[in-house]
Amino acid sequence: MAQRVAVNEAAGSKRTARVRVAVRLRPYMDKQDEKGEGPCVRGLGPQTLEIVNWRNATETLQYQFDVFHGEQTTQQEVFLSSVKSIIPHILNGQNASVFAYGPTGAGKTHTMLGSQEQPGVIPRAVREVFQLVRTQVKDQDEWEFSVGMSYLEIYNEKVLDLLSPSSQDLPIREDKDKNIIIPGLTHTPLSSFSDFHTHFVPASLNRTTASTKLNQRSSRSHAILLIKVVKCQRAPPHRQQTGKLYLVDLAGSEDNRRTGNQGIRLKESGAINLSLFTLSKVVDCLNTGTGGRVPYRDSKLTRLLQDSLGGSAHSVMITNIAPEYKYYFDTFTALNFAAKSKQIINRPFVRETVVAPTNAAGKRSRDEQDAGGSGE
Ligand code: ADP
Ligand code: MG
Repeated sequence: MAQRVAVNEAAGSKRTARVRVAVRLRPYMDKQDEKGEGPCVRGLGPQTLEIVNWRNATETLQYQFDVFHGEQTTQQEVFLSSVKSIIPHILNGQNASVFAYGPTGAGKTHTMLGSQEQPGVIPRAVREVFQLVRTQVKDQDEWEFSVGMSYLEIYNEKVLDLLSPSSQDLPIREDKDKNIIIPGLTHTPLSSFSDFHTHFVPASLNRTTASTKLNQRSSRSHAILLIKVVKCQRAPPHRQQTGKLYLVDLAGSEDNRRTGNQGIRLKESGAINLSLFTLSKVVDCLNTGTGGRVPYRDSKLTRLLQDSLGGSAHSVMITNIAPEYKYYFDTFTALNFAAKSKQIINRPFVRETVVAPTNAAGKRSRDEQDAGGSGE
């Protein structure tokens, strides 16, 4: 009989529970900038960026993160530097999560899903899982692997199975080994990447179609892909380990109730989206290490991710931001959440990117390219 062994690397391990935070700035888009103001954010280095200080135009705010991905960063580079190294852990019975955070329009779906031409984190990670499994099976005989997927959505604090769209709100439970489980959730065994593709694509298309009908549902819901790797010993004592990888395209972090330029800070405004609000508290709690209770149980998303976020899990949050002024307050909020440190620098946001009033709006992007970061 197979003997279940709870693998808990946390015991005795010195690994911290920090969530690694990467920030990705998407390219500037003319059509997102109706007033022709140019970008208000730009990268400074591999960990830093600067943003206009709206309170004082003679200053910029500089932020530092674990990683900063500038607008030129490719999908491949994001995967290699922020995601690839966590995948092997799920073949060893550990859990991991990667989630894209940020306002609607800032590039979360591009980062996670991408397109046919520019595949994102999800297809790359799943490919990597199958590649690692193949290599392991070839190199040794001791373990047998099986890979499977579930795909769900949290919308209005309801857990919905995207592989079985007619299902109702599903419960989240914890088993005796403190694993989080969702009884009734569809689990589809996968034998290859193309198998994954076959099941995932129609389910994600379903979600997109539904979103246009249901008042931008996709920007208010969390899409959660779970890849599970079960590893079984072929010979007695038939040990078994399960590793889970959550790949999450979060709801938009924007405050939908904001009017005009009157910013309401997320923390003061009560929960617009309870799961997103609680996630920010959980990440804050894990990263500032202040001790005390991590509020996992306060929302569906954090309850679901409890065994895969913090603790012995490997977690990465990719905060997506957009450079146009119309995103300014949402960018500002997202950066304050993501930053390791923040500094006020006494100099105006550099002139090469903020165009003088005499310049014609249409010429801007070319002028900027010519200016090419020439400093002040
Ligand atoms: P979100 O999911 O956060 O609402 P999207 O991923 O849909 O945002 O991105 C908004 C638009 O910007 C899309 O047209 C997307 O293709 C484009 N986009 C986002 N990030 C990038 C990027 N890094 N490079 C090129 N285009 C991008
Ligand atoms: Mg999206």
